[in-house]
Amino acid sequence: MRNRIFYGIFSVALLVLVASMVLIFSALYTQYSKEYEKSLQNEAYLVAAAIRHTGSGYFSDLKVDKRYRITYIARSGKVIYDTSVDASKLPNHASRPEVKEAMKTGYGSDTRYSKTLSEKTSYSAVRMEDGRVLRVSITQFTLLTLLLRLMKPILLVLLLTIMTSLLLASRISHRIVKPINEIDLDAPTENMIYPELEPLLVRMEEQNNMLNQRIDKLRGDVDEKTREAEFRKEFTANVSHELKTPLTSISGFAEIMKNGIVRSEDVGKFAGRIYEEAQRLIVLVDDIIKLSQLDENQITAKKERLDLYGVAEEVFYTLDAAAKGMDVKVDLSGKHVHVDGVYQIIEEIVYNLCDNAIKYNKKGGTVRVSTGMAEGRPYICVKDTGIGIPQEDLDRVFERFYRVNKSHSKEIGGTGLGLSIVRHGAAYHNADIRIQSRLGEGTEITVLF
Ligand code: ADP
Repeated sequence: MRNRIFYGIFSVALLVLVASMVLIFSALYTQYSKEYEKSLQNEAYLVAAAIRHTGSGYFSDLKVDKRYRITYIARSGKVIYDTSVDASKLPNHASRPEVKEAMKTGYGSDTRYSKTLSEKTSYSAVRMEDGRVLRVSITQFTLLTLLLRLMKPILLVLLLTIMTSLLLASRISHRIVKPINEIDLDAPTENMIYPELEPLLVRMEEQNNMLNQRIDKLRGDVDEKTREAEFRKEFTANVSHELKTPLTSISGFAEIMKNGIVRSEDVGKFAGRIYEEAQRLIVLVDDIIKLSQLDENQITAKKERLDLYGVAEEVFYTLDAAAKGMDVKVDLSGKHVHVDGVYQIIEEIVYNLCDNAIKYNKKGGTVRVSTGMAEGRPYICVKDTGIGIPQEDLDRVFERFYRVNKSHSKEIGGTGLGLSIVRHGAAYHNADIRIQSRLGEGTEITVLF
């Protein structure tokens, strides 16, 4: 680019110089030629006047510059006198254009070039009263000869100008290109040095933004993939661990029974423990399946219009025995509000929230479930007077297998997946979850659809 600017400036400077030289020379030359011709005409009249006064004697002691020539021509065209050539040797001049014209009109002029075109001669002829013609001429160099003769100074000027334009072109191109090279490509629009570059810089900025967005997205995708991979790894480890504990118990009890170590009256008790652990396994595997279905969006059931109050009523029916067993009072209030949802998932959300509210309650405590509209959206709220959740655990209880008190949760049959299923189920329905809890006082969880 710098070279192009450099050569551009240089060739324009050179062209302008040569063109202006030619123009100035030819204008000056034309002007001078005209002036010469005019003065030649005056001189012709002056010489004619002098001859009129002094007669032919005028020529006797005449000294003329060799570029000038004065010719005196008889009416017949015969040359009577000539300042540079012997008149008797000159041919008849009657046919010369300027002489012919002067004889006819009183004045005539002409310009003729030498054979080599290096010189031109201008003629001015005046007719005298006696019919004779006085002709004055001057020989000058032609423009071409003049240029050739002035070649040395012209070349010198040209050389000087070429050098100056080379220097200037180099400096100017450097000055033009420097700020372009210094453009900060990370923030092109902050470098609006030339208005002509504005569209280009704006496009560069747009492309930068686009690229950054793509890079951010790719980074985000990679981060998410890494997070997902870690998540899966952790989940698999957790699942194996959760499955292993009941299986070890089952295997242990079964082994003791197989070896016949168990007294016959204890067989029922051992079989009962095996049954309990197997039940725990079934619930766990069930929860894992539900979670992975939600996780991989494998829900086949279609969404339908569901009454949240109605769903809560059915859940209450299922949990009635559990609540009574825990000596917890359950209460349902509110309006029949509707959501578009998958019955299984909504029921699972309400079930898990109510189940937790009963499980983590105190003897004689209560669970209040309410449905209605808030912020223009249908909601269900489950509030208990139970043990509460410490503030630092509030965010974590929705993670898979996270339990505030592991042994207590396991004791009461928790899988650690209930709230995780609630979170995924809510996300599937674009619902928000809000949780409030006070340790020792109770917990309130609202799902806002
Ligand atoms: P779990 O099957 O162990 O109940 P969840 O995912 O349903 O698992 O809940 C995660 C943990 O959050 C529970 O182990 C418990 O410590 C705490 N938690 C959930 N609901 C309540 C509640 N209503 N009151 C107190 N703690 C709760």
